[in-house]
Amino acid sequence: MVNAKSNIEAPHFLSHITGSFAMPAAENPTVAMVEAAYRHHGLNWRYLNCEVSPERLGDAVRGAKAMGWEGFNCSIPHKITVIDFLDELAVSAEIIGAVNTVVRRDSRFIGENTDGRGFVEGLRGITEPAGKSVVIFGAGGAARAVAVEMALAGATRVRVVNRSRARGEELARLVTEKTSAQGEYLPWTSNFRVPEDTDIAINNTSVGLYPNVDERLDVDMDSLRPHMVVADGIPNPPRTPWIREAEARGCRVMDGLAMLVHQGVLAIRYWTGIDPEKDVMRRALAEALRL
Ligand code: NDP
Repeated sequence: MVNAKSNIEAPHFLSHITGSFAMPAAENPTVAMVEAAYRHHGLNWRYLNCEVSPERLGDAVRGAKAMGWEGFNCSIPHKITVIDFLDELAVSAEIIGAVNTVVRRDSRFIGENTDGRGFVEGLRGITEPAGKSVVIFGAGGAARAVAVEMALAGATRVRVVNRSRARGEELARLVTEKTSAQGEYLPWTSNFRVPEDTDIAINNTSVGLYPNVDERLDVDMDSLRPHMVVADGIPNPPRTPWIREAEARGCRVMDGLAMLVHQGVLAIRYWTGIDPEKDVMRRALAEALRL
């Protein structure tokens, strides 16, 4: 006699949990992008956008571990301080000195940084970093991640242009000491001219981010040449003055939405093992940001 129950699939009401710890958290659109990918691939996974204060970060990480979370993203202001609560760091996260993605391996939390690698993956759709001479504007968290990953991906020269000299010099030194690329600091002089031998010019400052959408980099845009690839880390809005004016000068461009999507792709790949559909993620982001 057939046991009717044996034909019924076992109940499966337990989801795999991932999420984000940041403060503020309300304007972070990542949840829309990641959950769209989970839905598209039919995964019983969730992504919870959590506002966590700096004093509570340790409790949040311990809580995530206690609840068996598969991993989580960290954003402002936790990318550096979260390291104290993790079991291990991946090589590039260690060099960058910051973590944006935590991955559970058995019962250990491993810190990864997918910001820079996401940037590199996106860029590979346009050009290969190996052997290239790169100029990066900015020396904050995003610039550090991009500079280190471009160098690890084989860029030969990384010039850092930053408003505050100390931060810029420190990043240039980091590149030279920790990778095989040559790091160099260039002071940000007024109406800065991008050196003619540059292959890839990247804005990793916060200039152009919503709501300051008309803010421009203090750069002589006529120094951008058609052979250069020009990229921006600003995801909102993606068509910054930097991107628009570079395009008008015949440069190939990559916007900050591409960086955001690709760092999310890497995080989902780490957590779930699947390679998520990028277009679904980009569409979900664009919709969430009302672009
Ligand atoms: P930080 O605060 O760590 O760094 C900000 C950088 O911008 C510094 O180098 C700062 O220079 C520079 N800067 C700020 N205002 C100006 C200005 N008016 N003129 C020149 N330089 C300026 O921020 P993050 O590095 O974490 O983030 C930077 C941007 O990258 C943010 O807008 C963020 O949205 C974006 N981002 C995008 C990601 C993506 O996936 N697309 C991922 C992570 C970040 P100084 O040192 O002199 O103060």
